[in-house]
Amino acid sequence: MHKIKYGSQEIFYELKRSNRKTLGIEVHPDNSVIIVAPSKSSFEDIERKIEKRAKWIINQQAYFNQFLPRTPERKYISGETHFYLGKSYRLKISLGTKNQVKLKAGKLEVICKNKIKQELVKNLLANWYYTHAEKKFKSISNEAFSKFKEYDFKMPKIEIRRMSKRWGSCNTLDKITLNPEIIKASSKCIEYVLIHEMCHLVVRNHNKEFYKILETIMPTWKKWKDKLENKLS
Ligand SMILES: [Zn+2]
Repeated sequence: MHKIKYGSQEIFYELKRSNRKTLGIEVHPDNSVIIVAPSKSSFEDIERKIEKRAKWIINQQAYFNQFLPRTPERKYISGETHFYLGKSYRLKISLGTKNQVKLKAGKLEVICKNKIKQELVKNLLANWYYTHAEKKFKSISNEAFSKFKEYDFKMPKIEIRRMSKRWGSCNTLDKITLNPEIIKASSKCIEYVLIHEMCHLVVRNHNKEFYKILETIMPTWKKWKDKLENKLS
């Protein structure tokens, strides 16, 4: 494990060598950083390149933090950043006459009846995300499905279920399961996951045929996949 300093922050990373020509940086969902460097590049050169990308790495880690139940606990206090459809919003917590969540003027406003309690804010937000996820997933999946006109399958059911390691999955021929957390990523990322899973309704495996269809339906898929996986090369 190596580390470099960036301002007051430290970035820990694992260094791997390969015969590739350029340096690749991967930030994983658990916030670990893997640097894949050309076998011949010097350590100084590698460090310099990581330094240049330090801000990006820290941003990716912050982005991932909010998806992860196992990373630093959210405190659910005013000022905290929460994501919705790829954008970050400051949390504003106040007292009111009824429990409510509103997205207003760039702020995610949580209103608590009677008393402000962390547990209540957390539940109100989770419900809000879930309701919005249901609606949004429905409209995005309808749109995604309309791109598969020439293929012969029925509109799959969209199920929302928490999964610790995946954004989406498709194990049967009539159902796609989505992680509700993906509502925090951009619409395009959600669309990518849905299109990926719909491609599996045509081809089960990740073979050439699969990628050919994916490429046809969504030529920019790689960009959204990388954004979800926080990979940069
Ligand atoms: Zn797949």
